[in-house]
Amino acid sequence: MSEQLSREQVNQAGHLAIDGVDALDLAKQYGTPLVAYDVTAIRDQIHRFRSVFEQNKVDYAVSYASKAFATIAMYQLIAQEHGHIDVVSGGELYTAMKANFPMQSVSFHGNNKPTAELEMAVDQHVGVIMLDNFHEIKLLSAILAEKSAEINVMLRVTPGISAHTHEYDQTGQEDSKFGFDIKSGQAQDALKQVLAEPRMNMLGVHAHIGSQIFEVNGFVMAANKLVDTVADWHDELGYEPKVINVGGGFGIRYTETDDPIAPEDFVDAIVKAVKVRTTERQLATPEIWIEPGRSIVGPAGYSLYTIGSRKDVPGIKPYVAVDGGMGDNIRPALYQAEYEAVLANNPLAKPVETVRIAGKYCESGDILIQNQPLPETKAGDVIAILDTGAYGYSMASNYNRNPRPAVVFVEKGKAKLVVERESFDDLVRLDKKL
Ligand SMILES: *Cc1c(COP(=O)(O)O)cnc(C)c1O
Repeated sequence: MSEQLSREQVNQAGHLAIDGVDALDLAKQYGTPLVAYDVTAIRDQIHRFRSVFEQNKVDYAVSYASKAFATIAMYQLIAQEHGHIDVVSGGELYTAMKANFPMQSVSFHGNNKPTAELEMAVDQHVGVIMLDNFHEIKLLSAILAEKSAEINVMLRVTPGISAHTHEYDQTGQEDSKFGFDIKSGQAQDALKQVLAEPRMNMLGVHAHIGSQIFEVNGFVMAANKLVDTVADWHDELGYEPKVINVGGGFGIRYTETDDPIAPEDFVDAIVKAVKVRTTERQLATPEIWIEPGRSIVGPAGYSLYTIGSRKDVPGIKPYVAVDGGMGDNIRPALYQAEYEAVLANNPLAKPVETVRIAGKYCESGDILIQNQPLPETKAGDVIAILDTGAYGYSMASNYNRNPRPAVVFVEKGKAKLVVERESFDDLVRLDKKL
């Protein structure tokens, strides 16, 4: 059995269970490929990120970086949990509107927000626009003047810290397409421009140092840098920061080589760092915001596939092909992301061979897993790839004109379809005849 699974995830029949529902029943009812979310796991993860803020009695926001998985039902779930969301496009904002998501809890990100999307954000009164560059300050200023509107803004800065899985590069991040550079004085120039804009309410600073991070140091360094930055602005310009936003990137376990840190430990380190540094710099402790994406939905997601063909060549690892692939999960093909899979009808079975799980797409690179130990399998068996909840469905495509899969939310023994499977008609809906 994969170490990722707990005993509760195997039901009495010996099958994989997703929040109390047999994975084989899900496959039968909704078809495959299917994306299934354990909703209890999503809620638990949000609560874990929150708990340390609550214990420390600091003002905070846990803002779900919704690019990891953005649908109406997901936004509704975050609203139920009174969470915030990050959106990065008009499409995500529109989806949140359709979910009746409270717009004051929306942060709008992006390094090149088009005029129409900025106008939409202003019309919707989103909670904050994360200003990324000088062009955007001008653009937003003109939009606000034209609409006689006001809005909260924050400055995204590049703190000169980029967190890799195990190393920190203190300068690399300055060469980034996102945000204002601190060291060269760009960020302070941006602050001056924003403070001169009567229609912009300058909430604070934001940084996002990377993704799939497995150490707290990067966040501590970023928090220190952000506090120092606003403290300098306070000393030099009298600016009073209200929010420090340290971004997301909290790592999750995809395979046994990943060793993630508990959400509580990340938050604890961030809160301590901000408190200590603000005290040293004689600043009031601002609100602390974080933006987890992958860590909220990744571990809660399962991709169910049905096994079809198999290719055996002597001396070569067998290919076991499934009815999905790079169209519903581009991550292995795009950046050699690794996953683990289990046989849904017997996740506890002893492996008898190591195979490659191949997709059905016309690309040699369409291999979902390169090295998967499996028990004996046959066509028609269902396999579940684990931890596929982040950047899987949200990056899905219609390559080869394959319809995108359905998505179900499963909670405490009940399943609910939250995204329908695309039909062939959906695929040609936008096509026009000659
Ligand atoms: C992508 C992104 C996140 C979330 O990153 P994860 O690795 O999914 O946690 C948070 N903040 C910003 C600005 C991002 O671009």
